[in-house]
Amino acid sequence: MEPQKKESLNFIEQMIEKDLKEGKYPVIHTRFPPEPNGYLHIGHAKSVCLNFGLAAKYNGKCNLRFDDTNPEKEETEYVESIKKDIQWLGFAWDEREYYASDYFDQLYEFAVALIKKGAAYVCDLSQEEFNALKGTPTVPGKESPYRNRPVEENLQLFGEMKAGKYKNGEKVLRAKIDMSSPNMHMRDPILYRIKHMPHHRTGDTWCIYPTYDFAHGQSDSMEGITHSLCTLEFEVHRPLYNWLISQLEIYPSQQTEFARLNLSYTIVSKRNLRELVEQNHVSGWDDPRMPTLSGIRRRGYPPVAIRRFADTIGVARRNGLTDVAVLEHAVREELNRTAPRVFGILDPVKLIITNWPEGKTETMQAINNPEDEQAGTREMPFGRELYIDRADFMEDPPSPKKWFRLGPDREVRLKYAYIIRCTGFKKDADGNVAEIYAEYDPQTRSGQDTSGKKVKGTLGWVSVADAVTRAEIRLYDRLFRTENLGEIEDDFKNHLNPHSLEINSQAVLEPSLREAKAGDMFQFERIGYFRVDEDSTPDRLVLNRTITLRDTWAK
Ligand code: ATP
Ligand code: MG
Repeated sequence: MEPQKKESLNFIEQMIEKDLKEGKYPVIHTRFPPEPNGYLHIGHAKSVCLNFGLAAKYNGKCNLRFDDTNPEKEETEYVESIKKDIQWLGFAWDEREYYASDYFDQLYEFAVALIKKGAAYVCDLSQEEFNALKGTPTVPGKESPYRNRPVEENLQLFGEMKAGKYKNGEKVLRAKIDMSSPNMHMRDPILYRIKHMPHHRTGDTWCIYPTYDFAHGQSDSMEGITHSLCTLEFEVHRPLYNWLISQLEIYPSQQTEFARLNLSYTIVSKRNLRELVEQNHVSGWDDPRMPTLSGIRRRGYPPVAIRRFADTIGVARRNGLTDVAVLEHAVREELNRTAPRVFGILDPVKLIITNWPEGKTETMQAINNPEDEQAGTREMPFGRELYIDRADFMEDPPSPKKWFRLGPDREVRLKYAYIIRCTGFKKDADGNVAEIYAEYDPQTRSGQDTSGKKVKGTLGWVSVADAVTRAEIRLYDRLFRTENLGEIEDDFKNHLNPHSLEINSQAVLEPSLREAKAGDMFQFERIGYFRVDEDSTPDRLVLNRTITLRDTWAK
């Protein structure tokens, strides 16, 4: 099923079409502005798809801009991962790769311009004094005693801050707006702070750094961004951004807010995800259980499924909770079309065809993907000893109407091969079924069946002599067991799903898997989708379960 074409425009598209029609902008220009302090997650993917997607749809441009104003948490590793992830999602920024840190000189000049027009001042309050004066949303703040410093003194002090004369926290530069504003962000917000700390790109050049609020809007303006799209929490920052733009008399980018993606059973916060990595709850940022794009990629989610998911959920003006099943559905839909089918047996038990001559092998033709004619067929060796899945056999099955699979005296088809009848089984000392015996009907070879027999059950199988047995199957499940992690009051780590990873080392796989290499995707018939992991070695094939065939969480 192809996703339905959306007829109606979302509110951002409506705004853009109106702006274009009225000639407000000849072309639109958006940007995706990550802070390089962690890996991108599925929430960021929504913003990436939105910003790059709108630019593509309306023949505009989208910049990649790293908002790297805070040297404390930012690293080159994150810059590289972010670029890789955006490319993987299928978007290109061409030569438009920008860094807020490239604007530090210009931002400094903007700050000086504000000082000169009496719109900014150097403030010496300590953190405690600052907090004591700032008020609360309902109680107006009080003015700093340094608020009315003369321009000349401010210029000198700000120059000295830049020159490294003061210690961290000794002084800040603040905008001079309104300490009684009901909007806390307008109560003389901080524009610059002192941090004697090297920056991942500017090194030791600076010891004062602009705040995010001072850098963001000005960066948009300098790049000529027409539509600056951000998540709802920045709505209250917009009056400050507009104030700065009008004081500086620079190009006014137009900010519009949309609801961030919150996904059930999923954490979308870099800070929390970092905690999982640092405390070893997962194997790294790219652990296949992580909602990071690198984790999702390793898990086997195709990028097109993520783009379709972003399209399906659209954009809204109110925060909500999106069901992770919507994402999983998009993944299944895509993999159903594209992933070749193979036989993989997670819990194998031996099936011996007692009327099959010892040593004889026949070659069966298996269809690679019934959803894709181009995918062709492959050959599967069939012999006297096979593996089937333990779950496909019952010693004492209920009526044939309720149990189509194998049991004593029951008939099933071995897919792409013969119909067999179970003639008995043997148990081991612990009482587990160790071997199952059956006879095949030579008249029933798939594609040449002259028997007229009808059976309801069809089982997967793998020839014992040819099976790939050196597999490690990592059965991943959702990382959290709580649906709405936005509503919990205790530590989010209490909500980890203890069964999010189970390792299966007993599985047997059909021989074609011998050729598999990292990144290959498969559907194990009737079981789920799997991706060959980079941890694979010549001696050990590691497969990540991307997703089960059906939603096992649905109520
Ligand atoms: P986090 O809270 O995970 O640290 P962030 O907003 O601090 O996220 P940024 O690097 O600043 O991370 O985000 C880059 C862009 O991605 C911003 O425009 C931000 O609004 C957007 N974004 C972040 N999280 C989401 C989300 N859950 N849904 C939609 N957009 C998001
Ligand atoms: Mg942020």
